[in-house]
Amino acid sequence: MKYVGAHTSTSGGVYNAIINAQSIGAKAFAMFTKNQRRWEAKPLQSKDIDKFKELLNESGILPCHVLPHDSYLINLGHPDNEKRDKSMNAFLDEVQRCEILGLDRLNFHPGSHLKQISEEECLRRIADGMNKTLDKTKSVTLVLENTAGQGSNLGWKFEHLARIIDLVEDKSRVGICIDTCHMFTAGYDIRTREAYDISMAQFESIIGFKYLRGMHLNDSKPDLGSHVDRHDSIGKGKIGLDAFRFIMNDERMDDIPLILETIDESLWPQEIKLLYSLIED
Ligand SMILES: [Zn+2]
Ligand SMILES: [Zn+2]
Repeated sequence: MKYVGAHTSTSGGVYNAIINAQSIGAKAFAMFTKNQRRWEAKPLQSKDIDKFKELLNESGILPCHVLPHDSYLINLGHPDNEKRDKSMNAFLDEVQRCEILGLDRLNFHPGSHLKQISEEECLRRIADGMNKTLDKTKSVTLVLENTAGQGSNLGWKFEHLARIIDLVEDKSRVGICIDTCHMFTAGYDIRTREAYDISMAQFESIIGFKYLRGMHLNDSKPDLGSHVDRHDSIGKGKIGLDAFRFIMNDERMDDIPLILETIDESLWPQEIKLLYSLIED
C-alpha cells in the first residue's frame, strides 16, 4: 500500500495538521511541531497533545505515516562548538516533542560544514549528535534526508548518508528520507526507467532500502546535477511524471509516508489523486 500526503500546516494548533491532511484526501502527512524558523518554542500543552492523539486515532492515519520535520536552523555538523550545542539542544527538544505526540520518526537535514571543517569531520559531528540524542530518548527514529548539496550542505551523496549511518551506534533508530527533487539535483537521474533503476540500485548498494522511512515527492525546477533546491509541482518540472509512476509502482516505497512538498498547495488534492492514478495493477 502507498501512503501519500503532504506537509500540512499546524497554524492554530499542532492537531490542525491532521485536519488539513484529511481535507486534501491525504493518507499520510508531514508537519513541524514548532515554528521552524525559531530556536525557542513553548512546550506543547497537554490539551493540544490529547487532541492531536485523539484526532490522529479518529483519522485512521497511523503514527508511522506521519513524518515530522525539524527546524531549518538546526545544524548538528556545525563547526563551532557553542553553535553546535545550541543545535543539539534544539534537536533533542524536537525529538522529545515527537515522543510526546506519540510519533515514531523525525525527519532532518544532516548538516553543513560551512567550509570550515572537512566533510569527514562534519559527518562525524552529525553522527555524534545523533548518538547523544538517541541516548537521551527512547523511541523516535532519526530520519536523515538527502539534500540537493546546495552551499556546504552534506547528505547529497549517498556515501555521506551511508557514512553517518555507519557511525550511528543504534542502527534500529536511524533512517533515510529520499527527496526526489534533492536526489535529482544532486545528480541522480530518475527520469527514465533505465535511469531510475540505476539510481535506485545505487541507493540499495550504498545505503540499503531497509533504512527507508519516508519520501518527499517533489518535481524539480532546476536541472539534473544543479545542486539547487527548488521544488516544482508533480509532472511540471524537470523530472516529469514518469519518475513518480515508477515510485508509485515500486514496492520498496510501500508502507512509508510519501509526502508532497510541492510549491502550489492548492494542487495537493489533485496531485494526491494523480499519484494514486499512476498505480498499475
Ligand atoms: Zn524534502
Ligand atoms: Zn527541498
